[in-house]
Amino acid sequence: MRNKLVVGNWKMNLTVAEASATVEALVRQLGHRPDVEVGICPPYLSIARVRDAIRGTPIKLGAQDVFWVDSGAFTGKVSASMLRDVGVQICIVGHSETRGKFGKLEVPEHTLGHFAETDETVNLKLKALLYQSIDPILCVGETLAEREAGDTDKVIGDQLRTALRDIDPDELFSGVVAYEPVWAIGTGQTCDCAEAERVCKLIRDNLGETLSAEAAAQMRVLYGGSVKASNSAELFAQPNIDGGLVGGASLNAEEFARIVMTA
Ligand code: PEP
Repeated sequence: MRNKLVVGNWKMNLTVAEASATVEALVRQLGHRPDVEVGICPPYLSIARVRDAIRGTPIKLGAQDVFWVDSGAFTGKVSASMLRDVGVQICIVGHSETRGKFGKLEVPEHTLGHFAETDETVNLKLKALLYQSIDPILCVGETLAEREAGDTDKVIGDQLRTALRDIDPDELFSGVVAYEPVWAIGTGQTCDCAEAERVCKLIRDNLGETLSAEAAAQMRVLYGGSVKASNSAELFAQPNIDGGLVGGASLNAEEFARIVMTA
């Protein structure tokens, strides 16, 4: 039996003071729900403050990205051992906002290198996180163009295969995969429940083939993409959707708590 998990991705939002106020409000709203796991992924600068505010609660401390080398001359990067040192327990990798050239990123060509995460670097990041015993939240998903071309299943299969290459299945039991259709992220356009369930089931089947039957049964598969309190109950009721990765709606403590309550 997999516990539901709801993770908030605050992206590049909230000052340290705002992060503090938001997480304190969230702790007040949530009370004690032992059957639902909750995680918060603040910007790096707010991680320590959020850690202090959630101490003694079951909320997990998260990060939004990581670099795969442990230390050295990599200006601006943060390693898995640094995340571990401040108490991070979960970390997003392969979010469409950090992957390269996804259709949603309307950025000038000369800045694309900044978003150039590939399935290969996602694989390196996963290994670095697992080495530090941090649970990865691996994001996969297709762009609108890929969906319209009928390539959704192939894109997701390819992303999973490369990202999970040479990873010991036993290390991933508490790891998470998030199905995040790129066209649904931050657009208000949620994926139809039946289709989200179909793709999450496909992901689970794929985990069974790539890793092991046990990993597929134990790992949580989340849905992400314009999740709100008004649509979360139906999404989370699907047999292969074990909760959600929530962006915009996680910035409001009340709305996020309502989403958690539906899980
Ligand atoms: C996300 O950032 O992972 C996400 C799903 O964003 P939103 O909920 O805003 O669509």
